[in-house]
Parts: sequence; structure tokens; C-alpha cells
Amino acid sequence: MQDKFYSENWHEATEKFVANASSVGKLRWCVSDKAKYDIPYVLIGNGPHKVVINSGVHGIEGYFGSAAQNMFLTRKVPHLNNYITDNYTIVLIHVINGWGMQNRMREVRDESNMGALVDLNRNFGIDFNQPDKLPQNPAYDLAHDLLLSQPDEKKKKIEIKKFRAKHLHDGVWNAISNGQYKHPYGLFYGGDKPMIENKMAIDIYDNIMTPDAKSLTSIGLHTGLGHFDRKAGRVTGQMLVSHPSKHKNTIFFNKMMSGAVPVTPDENAVLGPTILGDLVDCLENRYENRNIPVYTADFEIGTGEFPKMSPIFKRMDMGDARYDLLHYGRINPITLEHLTESWYPSDTGWRVDALQNAGTMFNALIASMETDRIK
Ligand SMILES: [Zn+2]
Repeated sequence: MQDKFYSENWHEATEKFVANASSVGKLRWCVSDKAKYDIPYVLIGNGPHKVVINSGVHGIEGYFGSAAQNMFLTRKVPHLNNYITDNYTIVLIHVINGWGMQNRMREVRDESNMGALVDLNRNFGIDFNQPDKLPQNPAYDLAHDLLLSQPDEKKKKIEIKKFRAKHLHDGVWNAISNGQYKHPYGLFYGGDKPMIENKMAIDIYDNIMTPDAKSLTSIGLHTGLGHFDRKAGRVTGQMLVSHPSKHKNTIFFNKMMSGAVPVTPDENAVLGPTILGDLVDCLENRYENRNIPVYTADFEIGTGEFPKMSPIFKRMDMGDARYDLLHYGRINPITLEHLTESWYPSDTGWRVDALQNAGTMFNALIASMETDRIK
């Protein structure tokens, strides 16, 4: 199962997707002469209710999203009934961040901005026209120097651990990953302009959202949040909704998944989104004036082997990678391997269980389309 769906590089992944997609739907490409990696996507069905599954916003998360989409195309699409294809258009967008995927990076490199690493999922829907009015993240500022300090497996880990203990309950630790626009070499940097990959992704969504669209349900495939128990070969899969429990979108996804996959709300997102510049909130804002339901979430596969230490290692590796790039122009291979393993484990059990989780989610999604629970 593994070899069939997973790939080793972007080219192989894209070839598989294109072959599988063309045999069951209408394949299209989003092409830009400014982007090295074009984005293929496929439309299945002709209905006014749009259901989109995107992958690869974060390159480091590897070929899980691509594998899940290939599984969907070969195992699920052939069994969809006419009711679904008449009422829905299912769209799979394959790998938004091709450069990151090929180069094993979460971000894209922006050569026009001193080679800064830009997290695409902090770059959506941000107004970059007024640089002095960009969102602030003072919590990140507190951690920046420590995260970017000289790599030192032992000392740095202890320091980050201390920082986490001190700031676990005042919101600072969690806010590190919310996005920032002040430190181009910092973590979770959202850039200084819309990235080409973001423009391409939004273009694809605008294309899908024809004037007759009656609803949009969009799910992004991600890895890195949640647990991985290597011994038991068990991996968590959860639907992350960027709204509190009582919000209509959270209620919607709970209904859609009906217990098959846990739905995780964000109780802090009462007044506005917690994460800055992410695709899900951008889509909700972008199509707000259409007055149709827009439901967005991210499906997250767990990779944290040591639930307590994993976030520390992840932050440290991201900081170390930046230190290396700034001082030596390349990332130490050990750091790169740590980064890859902590977002896209090579473990066979992980890969099999991750796909099984995706299959469970897809089944719940299809069942809810059949029974009109998601119109
Ligand atoms: Zn991600």
C-alpha cells in the first residue's frame, strides 16, 4: 500500500496524481511563469456544492497529503454515486508548496526578501500594502533570540524547555507558532508580500467558486500536530477547526465526522483567528459576501512521538535550520533529518496508519455528502 501511494519526490508525486486524476476527473493546472512548480488539480462531478481537499501547503510534511489524495482518487472516487457527482464538485489540489516539498522545507524561500523562509500558511489574506500595520506577535518576539541561537543539542534544549515551562500557561509558548511579520529569518514568518504559491492557490479556489456555487467545504491535509506512538504503530488524526466549540463551523464538522474522527475546536479564536494568514480563515473571509456556507478545516496527522518533548524539538530544529542557513548557507544534514522525521516519519507503521486515518476521514466525508449532511 505504501509504495503505491507515497512518493520520494515532487516529480514522482505529481506524476502519480496526474495519472490517477486524469482517469477519474477533469485535470487542470495552475501555471505561473514565476513559479517553478505548477499546481495540478482535478474536478470530480458537476454539482454546485464544492468540496475541496488540498495538500502540501507545508513542504516538510512530505508526501502524506499526496498519498492520501492518490488513495482517494483510486479507492474512493470509483465508488461515488451519481447523486454525489450531480450535487457536488469534489476538487483535489495537489501540493501547493512544490518547492518546499522537493527541498524538504516547511516554507518557501523568498530570494527577493534576503532569502527569507516564508510559511505559506501565514501568508494568506494578509494586507501587505501597509507594512507598519502588519499584525504583531509580541509573544514570538520574546522567543526569537533563543530559537535562533547557536545550535547546541543539550544546552539549547534545556533553555527552550525552561522557556516553555515558564510560558506554557501565559499563552506565550502557544503564540510562537501563530505567525509573525517582523523577523524574516524567524520561525512562522508570514513574508512581506503575497507569495506566488498563495496567489496560485487562491486563483484555483476562485476558479472553483463559480457564480452558481452553493457552498464551499475545504479541508487541508497536514501533519505534525498530534501524537504518534511508534511502538503501537498508532497515529492520531484530527480535524482542526479554527473556531470555538459553539461556532457553526465546528458544529458542522462534528456533524460531518459524526465521531469517526475527532474534531478539535480552537477556544481562543473567539474574536478572530488565532493563527494569522492561514488559508482556512482567508477562504472564509474571501467568500463571505457570497452569502453561502463556507466551512474550512485542516486534517492533522500526529507525528509527536514524545508528546511533551516533541514541540520543543520541533521549535529547536526550525531555529537551528535558520541559524545554519544564516551562518553557513546550508542546513546541517542532521538537523534536516530531524526536521523531516518530526513532520514526516519514515516509519512504515506511521505511513500505513496515517493513510488509514485519512481513509476514515474520507469515508465520513463521502457519507455526509450522500446524506446531505454537508450542503
Ligand atoms: Zn502543516
